[in-house]
Amino acid sequence: MSGGNAIRGTRVGAGPMGESERGESAPRRRVSYWCANGHESRPSFAAEAELPESWDCPRCGLPAGQDQEKPPAVPRTEPYKSHLAYVKERRSESDGEAILTEALEKLRARREL
Ligand SMILES: [Zn+2]
Repeated sequence: MSGGNAIRGTRVGAGPMGESERGESAPRRRVSYWCANGHESRPSFAAEAELPESWDCPRCGLPAGQDQEKPPAVPRTEPYKSHLAYVKERRSESDGEAILTEALEKLRARREL
């Protein structure tokens, strides 16, 4: 038997779909999910499987829900945090520079003595 790797290579993303590919004709159903951007994705599930409340949109990665009118809210990734961290980083960097310059000046002063 070969080809297992090829199949694995073409599988995109989230896991629970690979399970039922055993050649048995397990009954499946397709369920539509919509994300906040209006993308529809229609993953299929085994008939007896419990439907996940949300599904990651394969196009934009946002969580998608079964209610087209009310897609799940876009999770807020707070840009301020990373910005603040960036600013902090820069500040401590320039602090470090100041300390370094000071030290160098002291060194020079000492040499001049
Ligand atoms: Zn989407």
